[in-house]
Amino acid sequence: MLRVAVVGGGPSGSCAAEVLAKAGIQTWLFERKLDNAKPCGGAIPLCMVQEFDLPESIIDRKVNNMKMISPSNREVDIHLDNPAEYIGMCRREVFDAFLRNRAADLGAQLVNGLVQRIDTGKNRQGPYTLHYADYAGGGLTGELKSLEVDLIVGADGANSRVAKAMDAGDYNVAIAFQERIRLPPEEMAYYEDLAEMYVGTDVSPDFYAWVFPKYDHVAVGTGTMQKNQSLIKGLQKGIRERASNRLLHGEVIKVEAHPIPEHPRPRRVVGRMALVGDAAGYVTKSSGEGIYFAAKSGRMCAEEIVAASGHGARIPSEKDLKVYLKKWDKKYGATYKVLEILQNVFYSNDPAREAFVEMCDDKDVQRLTFDSYLYKRVVPINPWQTIKLTLLTFGAYLRGQAFAPTTYKPVPSAVRSEAEMASILAADAAKSSGLNGSDPSHPAIVVKADPKPAAESGEREPILAGKS
Ligand SMILES: Cc1cc2nc3c(=O)[nH]c(=O)nc-3n(C[C@H](O)[C@H](O)[C@H](O)COP(=O)(O)OP(=O)(O)OC[C@H]3O[C@@H](n4cnc5c(N)ncnc54)[C@H](O)[C@@H]3O)c2cc1C
Repeated sequence: MLRVAVVGGGPSGSCAAEVLAKAGIQTWLFERKLDNAKPCGGAIPLCMVQEFDLPESIIDRKVNNMKMISPSNREVDIHLDNPAEYIGMCRREVFDAFLRNRAADLGAQLVNGLVQRIDTGKNRQGPYTLHYADYAGGGLTGELKSLEVDLIVGADGANSRVAKAMDAGDYNVAIAFQERIRLPPEEMAYYEDLAEMYVGTDVSPDFYAWVFPKYDHVAVGTGTMQKNQSLIKGLQKGIRERASNRLLHGEVIKVEAHPIPEHPRPRRVVGRMALVGDAAGYVTKSSGEGIYFAAKSGRMCAEEIVAASGHGARIPSEKDLKVYLKKWDKKYGATYKVLEILQNVFYSNDPAREAFVEMCDDKDVQRLTFDSYLYKRVVPINPWQTIKLTLLTFGAYLRGQAFAPTTYKPVPSAVRSEAEMASILAADAAKSSGLNGSDPSHPAIVVKADPKPAAESGEREPILAGKS
């Protein structure tokens, strides 16, 4: 009987373990931290709800309004007219726990353990021995144990130890930073079913910044590519500044940061070890989307294992596992390429970002982007739409040169008059001069959390380490 270890209990690992366990294969699902709150915007496309049979209870907010905000603060509203359509906003501690527990209910053996080392056998062909710290008994260090298996699915995220053991090669990692900010009721009500995306050199030289609504707070964050990593805290300050009037009297309750893969690893299958999700490098450019692709790759990889092993009767070969890669690249290769081109074109400088936001005002562009995001399908466009889009791009790009700002200003409050804001800010400034606990550049935002990202301040494993 085939023995499979899935390392990592995020969406990719849990979805792989679910398929394997359902097929009757002996499956262990390793997760180092059962209450892990993966730093993440938590936005998921509508199709994922159906495809992965997700209950509404794990979705905090159904967003059907999106605001794109340009460097000069031009705001473009995108509304999903069909009330059944939405972007789901989740807290990862809730989302991940659901998927993990479902896999366990279906028969995967859930191990609360940190895999520390893997012996991979001759030429990495196995059998594989995982050495791990088992935290089932409580305590910080855990009990050292080992387990022998025939096959490993590496679903252990951007700092993957499985990738290291199989010599999968490195990838560049972008860095993303996020603060969870609790808002007063008026400001929170504005974000009820609305998410905001900000672009500009002040918030990211190569990506976008976001304000995403969650259950009782908003997640405010930004990301940038590896080469600009040193700028990340300044960029986070940039998004806070730009959105400051909408985050009035916000309380920072959690600070988070994590690497995001910029492209797939050179080798994703070696021997009988296969990588999925972030460990493989499946986050898209432009949107920074990785949850759906993690879950989907976990599922596709596991389906291939089930098929090649005859439901666990035989041990699949490296060649068998590589069929998963072939199918994956065929299905999504073009999507990754297109989104990479879009990021390079539209996020490269402020005139291009102005053009990008202007183009989002067009109904065809909205339908195209939302259909491909929400349903993960390629939307065919007719010749007239192609001509229109091309002209639109050129026109918007030229106009963007004129609109690009030399300095960045905060967007106005969405729920208070200018006079009301001015008097509140003046009162705050007077009160907070010299007061501990306030961000000096934003008297209106109070930092209650440790200002260092969570794992930097003492979790079991450093998350800002980049490649490990
Ligand atoms: C700030 C930020 C915002 C993002 N926003 C979005 C968004 O809004 N929408 C979206 O689709 N994507 C977003 N992403 C990307 C998304 O978070 C990832 O693509 C997704 O989490 C990948 O899932 P995964 O299961 O592959 O890996 P992960 O979610 O990273 O899960 C890996 C799991 O493995 C565990 N683990 C790691 N090492 C070990 C070990 N040695 N032993 C045992 N367990 C281990 C970890 O604890 C973790 O639970 C964002 C990323 C960041 C950093």
